Amino acid sequence: MTDRAVDPWAARKERMVTDQIVSRGVKDPAVLEAMRSVPRHVFVPESERARAYDDGPQSIGRGQTISQPYIVALMTELARLDPTSRVLEIGTGCGYQTAVLAACAGWVWTIELEPELAARAARTLAELGAANVTARVGDGSLGWPEAAPFDAILVTAAPADVPPALLDQLAEGGRLVIPLGTSRQDLWVFTREPDGIRRASIIPVRFVLLR
Ligand code: SAH
Repeated sequence: MTDRAVDPWAARKERMVTDQIVSRGVKDPAVLEAMRSVPRHVFVPESERARAYDDGPQSIGRGQTISQPYIVALMTELARLDPTSRVLEIGTGCGYQTAVLAACAGWVWTIELEPELAARAARTLAELGAANVTARVGDGSLGWPEAAPFDAILVTAAPADVPPALLDQLAEGGRLVIPLGTSRQDLWVFTREPDGIRRASIIPVRFVLLR
């Protein structure tokens, strides 16, 4: 997205990828390239920019947070995307995870509950020229039935249990990547197999709660 030769953030991006993401085992080349190219600093408030590539979550206003870079990369890798994938994201937030998905997939639909965050994310994504993203304001736990089925669904706010609509909207072979729990949370992957749903718990995480 930006010319690395003249990008003043290039060194910080590269350190983020090497020290936080590759070192923790993320390998998918498309995910690593997306983490190198998507400018994370443009998604965080002006006052937070200097810390944009640090190893942790950050405040994006309205009591919400942008996930730690490693968690964004891990969730994207777990979705197993390719350039033809149709992806649904619940919890647009600042739109950073959306931009990473858009770099790895064919088309991204994203839903945000807070109109103010949704508007800001739409502006940032448009400025970056992310043409394969469709966004709307609403309750993501209902999914996006008109655009289903999806090859992957990513949820970036934690419910106590899996919203049934999201499993219904998974294509055959499709993967739902979702944090589950309230006081204690784990990241889960649910896969729609020919004979039913397979589930795997990946790592403990901490997300804001799905409302
Ligand atoms: N992926 C985001 C993370 C944002 S935090 C990023 O990269 O910035 C989680 C987001 O989920 C918040 O913006 C919150 O407003 C939103 N959210 C919470 N409950 C929701 C719901 N039921 N439907 C849609 N969005 C929801």
